[in-house]
Amino acid sequence: MGRISLENVTKTFGTVEVIPPLNLTIEDGEFAVFVGPSGCGKSTLLRLIAGLEETTSGRILIDDQDMTEVPPSKRGLAMVFQSYALYPHMTVRKNIAFPMRMAGIDEAEQEKRINAAAAALNLTDYLERKPGQLSGGQRQRVAIGRAIVRDPSAFLFDEPLSNLDAALRVGMRIEISEMHNRMATTMIYVTHDQVEAMTMADKIVVLQAGVIEQVGSPLDLYHRPRNKFVAGFIGSPT
Ligand code: ADP
Ligand code: MG
Repeated sequence: MGRISLENVTKTFGTVEVIPPLNLTIEDGEFAVFVGPSGCGKSTLLRLIAGLEETTSGRILIDDQDMTEVPPSKRGLAMVFQSYALYPHMTVRKNIAFPMRMAGIDEAEQEKRINAAAAALNLTDYLERKPGQLSGGQRQRVAIGRAIVRDPSAFLFDEPLSNLDAALRVGMRIEISEMHNRMATTMIYVTHDQVEAMTMADKIVVLQAGVIEQVGSPLDLYHRPRNKFVAGFIGSPT
């Protein structure tokens, strides 16, 4: 399960209201993409959902449970960042095992989940290597593997491909889409890249200055943009 709702959520940094009251629901199993120009509040919104930022007001619900005051580690979500944040001195196996060790999962179960994640992400032959001996794409897969083994109710991605070169980005986009099709887990994916949004999303959330300009499928947005900003951003015919 992984239905995520934001009810009248706001976020103020100092005196600046970065997110004015915002309402949004991501359905269980949906692939939602938050897209918009740099500084529009995409990361802030994701961090609010993850619990890495406190809401100034409003509520965040996961499967109808109020999570607003619940710490990040207890929300059942997995966050994948653009900086891989892998431990350089640990092998791939140990990196993937780390969150499970912290959660006190027994070793046999850890092994089982590591092997399943490695098989799903083509990492089986790399488990004993260290991050420095991997390509950028492989390191990104390890970061995803570390998220998968926690069996989260949703994955939150913040521009996970922005450190990769163009060819690798295309490949990883397909891999993440395939992973979504296979697992049918809710995913929220933040990007400033319109092509990524249009090719990956079930639901696109277009943001400008912390405000949702439009929510819809890629086809909705393309054919029925609500305003000039959405049309211009998505590249609809005018
Ligand atoms: P995006 O991810 O869309 O590029 P962010 O969510 O990172 O945008 O930032 C939205 C706005 O909030 C920006 O104006 C940014 O400067 C501001 N902001 C983000 N985090 C902080 C913070 N910790 N303190 C002050 N301002 C912040
Ligand atoms: Mg950001």
